[in-house]
Amino acid sequence: MIVYPSGYVATNQRAEGGIWSEDDEHLSGHTQRNLRALVLAWDDVKAGAADPDDGRNLVLHEFAHQLDFEDGSTDGTPALESAAQARSWAEVFGTELEALRCAADAGEPTLLDPYGAQDPAEFFAVATETFFERGRELSRRHPKLYEELRRFYRQDPAAW
Ligand SMILES: [Zn+2]
Repeated sequence: MIVYPSGYVATNQRAEGGIWSEDDEHLSGHTQRNLRALVLAWDDVKAGAADPDDGRNLVLHEFAHQLDFEDGSTDGTPALESAAQARSWAEVFGTELEALRCAADAGEPTLLDPYGAQDPAEFFAVATETFFERGRELSRRHPKLYEELRRFYRQDPAAW
């Protein structure tokens, strides 16, 4: 785990089609498989922790990414216990991601941060934040999604 005192800038370098490019990205937290570390900006961590019920929590978000990487693929599906659980996870998460995309496109207010609509990995991270921080609302408005996360994390935040 690497902790920076505040938001930081990462320089991405890549070669695409023979063209070398570099761009700066403002980050408050970040992790990736080959980094083997969790990078967090401490001021954003404190901001997330300051309001435990706002549905946003950087530590939970990055932690979910870390769990997602554990099975070797970054696809929004962590290591699950059985094929049956993997099937129902895929079905529920697929449906919920599509619903969030539609709502985000339509500009409708959502319980889940629309940031999660960009791909399955971000969706899992955002759903994890909402699960732990706004469990009761998630269980009421997205009962199937709540149930999958409850089974995976073996926690029942709606009952806290
Ligand atoms: Zn993320």
